[in-house]
Amino acid sequence: MIIAIDGPAASGKGTLAKRVAAHFGLPWLDTGLLYRAVARDVLKAGKRLEDAEAAAAAAQNLGPESLDDPKLRGNGIGDAASVVGKIPEVRAALLKLQQDFAAQPGGAVLDGRDIGTVICPNADVKIFVTASPEIRAKRRFLERTARGEAITYESILEEIRRRDERDMGRAAAPMRPAADAFLLDTTNLDIEAAFNTAVGEITRKVGQRGRP
Ligand code: C5P
Repeated sequence: MIIAIDGPAASGKGTLAKRVAAHFGLPWLDTGLLYRAVARDVLKAGKRLEDAEAAAAAAQNLGPESLDDPKLRGNGIGDAASVVGKIPEVRAALLKLQQDFAAQPGGAVLDGRDIGTVICPNADVKIFVTASPEIRAKRRFLERTARGEAITYESILEEIRRRDERDMGRAAAPMRPAADAFLLDTTNLDIEAAFNTAVGEITRKVGQRGRP
Protein backbone atom coordinates (compact mmCIF):
# COMPACT_ATOMS: atom_id res chain seq x y z
CA MET A 1 0.00 0.00 0.00
CA ILE A 2 1.46 3.34 -1.03
CA ILE A 3 0.26 6.41 0.85
CA ALA A 4 1.11 9.85 -0.56
CA ILE A 5 0.83 12.79 1.81
CA ASP A 6 1.42 16.24 0.36
CA GLY A 7 0.95 19.76 1.63
CA PRO A 8 2.58 23.12 2.26
CA ALA A 9 5.23 24.07 4.82
CA ALA A 10 4.16 23.65 8.44
CA SER A 11 0.84 22.05 7.51
CA GLY A 12 1.55 19.16 9.88
CA LYS A 13 1.99 16.65 7.05
CA GLY A 14 5.28 15.32 8.47
CA THR A 15 3.82 14.61 11.90
CA LEU A 16 0.80 13.04 10.25
CA ALA A 17 2.87 10.90 7.85
CA LYS A 18 5.05 9.62 10.67
CA ARG A 19 2.04 8.57 12.74
CA VAL A 20 0.21 7.02 9.79
CA ALA A 21 3.33 5.02 8.87
CA ALA A 22 3.72 3.73 12.45
CA HIS A 23 0.02 2.85 12.61
CA PHE A 24 0.07 0.78 9.42
CA GLY A 25 3.59 -0.60 10.01
CA LEU A 26 5.01 0.99 6.85
CA PRO A 27 8.38 2.65 6.19
CA TRP A 28 8.21 6.45 5.90
CA LEU A 29 10.20 8.87 3.77
CA ASP A 30 10.13 12.60 4.47
CA THR A 31 11.06 13.74 0.94
CA GLY A 32 11.61 17.33 2.10
CA LEU A 33 14.82 16.03 3.69
CA LEU A 34 16.18 15.21 0.21
CA TYR A 35 15.78 18.81 -0.97
CA ARG A 36 17.13 20.09 2.33
CA ALA A 37 20.22 17.85 1.97
CA VAL A 38 20.80 19.08 -1.58
CA ALA A 39 20.64 22.71 -0.37
CA ARG A 40 23.06 21.92 2.46
CA ASP A 41 25.54 20.23 0.10
CA VAL A 42 25.41 23.06 -2.47
CA LEU A 43 26.17 25.61 0.24
CA LYS A 44 28.88 23.36 1.69
CA ALA A 45 30.53 23.25 -1.76
CA GLY A 46 30.59 27.07 -1.73
CA LYS A 47 28.11 27.35 -4.62
CA ARG A 48 24.94 29.39 -5.04
CA LEU A 49 21.58 27.69 -4.49
CA GLU A 50 20.47 28.78 -7.98
CA ASP A 51 23.46 27.03 -9.60
CA ALA A 52 21.62 24.25 -11.49
CA GLU A 53 24.77 22.29 -12.28
CA ALA A 54 26.05 22.27 -8.71
CA ALA A 55 22.60 21.45 -7.34
CA ALA A 56 22.07 18.59 -9.80
CA ALA A 57 25.50 17.17 -8.89
CA ALA A 58 24.61 17.35 -5.19
CA ALA A 59 21.30 15.58 -5.87
CA GLN A 60 23.01 12.81 -7.86
CA ASN A 61 25.50 12.20 -5.07
CA LEU A 62 22.95 12.04 -2.29
CA GLY A 63 23.11 8.83 -0.25
CA PRO A 64 20.71 7.65 2.46
CA GLU A 65 23.37 8.32 5.11
CA SER A 66 23.44 12.01 4.24
CA LEU A 67 19.85 12.38 5.44
CA ASP A 68 20.87 11.38 8.93
CA ASP A 69 21.75 14.91 9.96
CA PRO A 70 19.80 16.74 12.67
CA LYS A 71 20.84 20.09 11.15
CA LEU A 72 18.63 19.35 8.12
CA ARG A 73 15.51 20.13 10.09
CA GLY A 74 16.96 23.40 11.35
CA ASN A 75 15.85 26.89 10.48
CA GLY A 76 16.72 28.42 7.16
CA ILE A 77 17.34 25.14 5.34
CA GLY A 78 13.65 24.80 4.43
CA ASP A 79 13.76 28.09 2.58
CA ALA A 80 17.02 27.12 0.84
CA ALA A 81 15.49 23.74 -0.08
CA SER A 82 12.63 25.49 -1.89
CA VAL A 83 15.20 27.30 -4.06
CA VAL A 84 16.94 24.09 -5.23
CA GLY A 85 13.50 22.44 -5.51
CA LYS A 86 12.72 24.74 -8.45
CA ILE A 87 15.52 23.22 -10.54
CA PRO A 88 14.17 20.48 -12.87
CA GLU A 89 17.53 18.62 -12.94
CA VAL A 90 17.42 18.33 -9.15
CA ARG A 91 13.90 16.93 -9.22
CA ALA A 92 14.86 14.48 -11.98
CA ALA A 93 17.89 13.28 -10.01
CA LEU A 94 15.76 12.60 -6.91
CA LEU A 95 12.91 10.86 -8.73
CA LYS A 96 14.25 7.27 -8.80
CA LEU A 97 15.33 7.28 -5.17
CA GLN A 98 11.78 8.25 -4.12
CA GLN A 99 10.09 5.81 -6.50
CA ASP A 100 12.37 2.97 -5.34
CA PHE A 101 11.46 3.75 -1.75
CA ALA A 102 7.76 3.64 -2.61
CA ALA A 103 8.18 0.34 -4.49
CA GLN A 104 9.32 -1.64 -1.41
CA PRO A 105 7.36 -4.82 -0.82
CA GLY A 106 4.42 -3.92 1.40
CA GLY A 107 4.51 -0.31 0.36
CA ALA A 108 5.46 2.93 2.09
CA VAL A 109 4.34 6.36 3.22
CA LEU A 110 5.97 9.35 1.51
CA ASP A 111 5.32 12.97 2.33
CA GLY A 112 6.24 16.02 0.27
CA ARG A 113 4.80 18.37 -2.34
CA ASP A 114 4.51 16.26 -5.51
CA ILE A 115 4.12 12.70 -4.26
CA GLY A 116 0.53 12.26 -5.41
CA THR A 117 1.04 14.12 -8.69
CA VAL A 118 4.54 13.14 -9.92
CA ILE A 119 6.36 10.61 -7.74
CA CYS A 120 3.53 8.15 -7.07
CA PRO A 121 0.61 9.05 -9.32
CA ASN A 122 -0.74 5.52 -8.74
CA ALA A 123 -0.60 5.69 -4.94
CA ASP A 124 -3.40 3.79 -3.21
CA VAL A 125 -4.27 6.78 -1.06
CA LYS A 126 -3.44 10.46 -1.57
CA ILE A 127 -3.95 13.01 1.15
CA PHE A 128 -3.35 16.73 0.70
CA VAL A 129 -2.97 18.46 4.06
CA THR A 130 -3.74 22.16 4.25
CA ALA A 131 -4.26 24.85 6.87
CA SER A 132 -4.40 28.63 6.60
CA PRO A 133 -0.99 30.37 6.45
CA GLU A 134 -1.85 32.16 9.70
CA ILE A 135 -2.54 28.98 11.64
CA ARG A 136 0.57 27.29 10.20
CA ALA A 137 2.67 30.29 11.21
CA LYS A 138 1.13 30.26 14.69
CA ARG A 139 1.94 26.56 15.18
CA ARG A 140 5.53 27.06 13.99
CA PHE A 141 5.87 30.13 16.19
CA LEU A 142 4.74 28.24 19.32
CA GLU A 143 7.04 25.31 18.46
CA ARG A 144 10.08 27.51 17.99
CA THR A 145 9.55 29.84 20.93
CA ALA A 146 9.06 26.75 23.12
CA ARG A 147 12.60 25.75 22.04
CA GLY A 148 13.81 29.11 23.28
CA GLU A 149 14.29 30.76 19.90
CA ALA A 150 13.91 34.52 19.60
CA ILE A 151 11.66 34.83 16.59
CA THR A 152 8.60 36.83 15.63
CA TYR A 153 5.28 35.50 14.37
CA GLU A 154 5.42 37.98 11.47
CA SER A 155 8.77 36.69 10.20
CA ILE A 156 7.51 33.11 10.25
CA LEU A 157 4.32 34.06 8.42
CA GLU A 158 6.39 35.86 5.81
CA GLU A 159 8.62 32.81 5.27
CA ILE A 160 5.60 30.52 4.96
CA ARG A 161 4.01 32.82 2.38
CA ARG A 162 7.26 33.07 0.42
CA ARG A 163 7.69 29.30 0.43
CA ASP A 164 4.07 28.64 -0.60
CA GLU A 165 4.49 31.01 -3.50
CA ARG A 166 7.74 29.37 -4.63
CA ASP A 167 6.36 25.82 -4.26
CA MET A 168 3.07 26.54 -6.01
CA GLY A 169 4.46 28.87 -8.64
CA ARG A 170 7.37 26.84 -9.99
CA ALA A 171 7.15 25.25 -13.43
CA ALA A 172 8.65 21.89 -12.37
CA ALA A 173 6.24 19.74 -10.34
CA PRO A 174 4.41 22.61 -8.64
CA MET A 175 2.70 21.85 -5.35
CA ARG A 176 -0.96 21.12 -5.91
CA PRO A 177 -3.44 18.49 -4.78
CA ALA A 178 -3.80 15.53 -7.17
CA ALA A 179 -7.25 15.36 -8.76
CA ASP A 180 -8.00 12.25 -6.69
CA ALA A 181 -6.50 13.51 -3.41
CA PHE A 182 -8.48 13.70 -0.17
CA LEU A 183 -8.24 17.27 1.15
CA LEU A 184 -7.54 17.41 4.84
CA ASP A 185 -7.87 20.96 6.16
CA THR A 186 -6.35 21.01 9.65
CA THR A 187 -7.07 24.69 10.35
CA ASN A 188 -9.58 23.68 13.01
CA LEU A 189 -8.21 20.22 13.84
CA ASP A 190 -5.65 19.14 16.40
CA ILE A 191 -3.08 16.43 15.61
CA GLU A 192 -5.27 13.67 17.04
CA ALA A 193 -8.32 14.67 14.98
CA ALA A 194 -6.22 15.01 11.81
CA PHE A 195 -4.71 11.56 12.42
CA ASN A 196 -8.11 9.94 13.00
CA THR A 197 -9.53 11.54 9.85
CA ALA A 198 -6.55 10.34 7.80
CA VAL A 199 -6.77 6.77 9.14
CA GLY A 200 -10.52 6.78 8.41
CA GLU A 201 -9.90 7.84 4.84
CA ILE A 202 -7.11 5.28 4.29
CA THR A 203 -9.24 2.46 5.70
CA ARG A 204 -12.19 3.54 3.59
CA LYS A 205 -10.03 3.61 0.44
CA VAL A 206 -8.17 0.34 0.85
CA GLY A 207 -10.60 -1.62 3.03
CA GLN A 208 -9.12 -4.76 4.60
CA ARG A 209 -5.63 -4.01 3.31
CA GLY A 210 -5.60 -0.79 5.27
CA ARG A 211 -5.94 -2.52 8.63
CA PRO A 212 -2.74 -2.86 10.64
O1 C5P B 1 8.71 19.51 3.54
P1 C5P B 1 9.86 20.47 3.80
O2 C5P B 1 9.42 21.76 4.39
O3 C5P B 1 10.97 19.82 4.54
O4 C5P B 1 10.42 20.78 2.33
C1 C5P B 1 11.40 21.76 2.10
C2 C5P B 1 11.27 22.26 0.67
O5 C5P B 1 11.66 21.21 -0.23
C3 C5P B 1 9.86 22.64 0.23
O6 C5P B 1 9.53 23.99 0.52
C4 C5P B 1 9.88 22.37 -1.26
O7 C5P B 1 10.36 23.47 -1.99
C5 C5P B 1 10.88 21.25 -1.41
N1 C5P B 1 10.20 19.97 -1.62
C6 C5P B 1 9.75 19.68 -2.89
N2 C5P B 1 9.17 18.48 -3.16
C7 C5P B 1 9.01 17.57 -2.19
C8 C5P B 1 9.43 17.85 -0.87
C9 C5P B 1 10.01 19.07 -0.62
O8 C5P B 1 9.88 20.51 -3.78
N3 C5P B 1 8.46 16.38 -2.50
